Amino acid sequence: MAEVDITDIKSIGVLGAGQMGAGIAQVFSLAGYGVKLTDLSEDKLAEALKTIEHHMTRQVSKGRVNPDDVKAALARIETGTDYSLFADCDVVIEAATENEELKREIFKELCPALKPDAILCSNTSSISITRLASVTDRPAKFMGMHFMNPVPVMQLVELIRGIATEESTFSTIRTLTQALGKTTASAEDFPAFIVNRVLLPMINEAVYTLYEGVGSVDAIDTAMRLGANHPMGPLELADFIGLDTCLAIMSVLYEGLADTKYRPCPLLVKYVEAGWVGQKAGRGFYDYSGDTPVPTR
Ligand code: NAD
Repeated sequence: MAEVDITDIKSIGVLGAGQMGAGIAQVFSLAGYGVKLTDLSEDKLAEALKTIEHHMTRQVSKGRVNPDDVKAALARIETGTDYSLFADCDVVIEAATENEELKREIFKELCPALKPDAILCSNTSSISITRLASVTDRPAKFMGMHFMNPVPVMQLVELIRGIATEESTFSTIRTLTQALGKTTASAEDFPAFIVNRVLLPMINEAVYTLYEGVGSVDAIDTAMRLGANHPMGPLELADFIGLDTCLAIMSVLYEGLADTKYRPCPLLVKYVEAGWVGQKAGRGFYDYSGDTPVPTR
């Protein structure tokens, strides 16, 4: 396959400054790209910049990043609440909340603010790339670019073509991803793609195991860490991903594949309804208010 020249890509837009958007902004700015980061409020953006600085400083203490590079990378991130910030971006990556209606509204509003030849990507964990592309003015220049959490640490980026994605769009984004030092895996546009099609039913099953009283939070996580050699237990991982995101992905699988085996566990639904959505809320299957997380069941 012909090499793609990505030297024209200088400016990256990141829409949504939550855990994923902040991580994506961090890796692109450290790689030397100008980054434009937006969210709904200045408070959210200030919080994201603090998180990025904190994570970069930790990378310095581990000897992975040079302190001078941190200063330069932070100076390359510009923030704002208006999509006009993306006017000169070559690639824009949407990383807003996992909700199809919300993402559709975002794309309709966002497209007029972009350069006509800008590539638009979604970091969605599960939603159809083809359906999202259909509300944009550029389905040929739209695709899924699914980073893993935490973005600076995780090696994989899953790449997903929609039905209309042009080959040049796909190869540009693949080369750009590799320039970040990441490895790509290509997935077809089916609900939740590869990683979450396999991972989320396991997490949902762990919640059922808790719901049915088969084990406590601690027993389930210990069993899977030591018994299956997983680096994190499934409930700990669910809290880390965000229980709202887990529920959204299970709902996409359940509705998209029309199979009852993907039914979201009622306990997962209840936690989300309570606002106990995991680490980012201070409470999920664990309580994060103290120094060490405490199981809640
Ligand atoms: P999050 O809740 O941490 O952040 C979402 C952010 O989007 C929030 O800051 C919110 O204010 C912002 N937002 C909502 N509407 C917006 C709008 N109209 N304009 C700008 N910003 C808006 O969620 P997250 O975990 O960062 O997930 C973001 C996306 O990444 C989702 O699509 C999710 O499925 C995907 N993803 C998540 C993970 C994970 O482990 N959490 C992993 C891979 C991909």
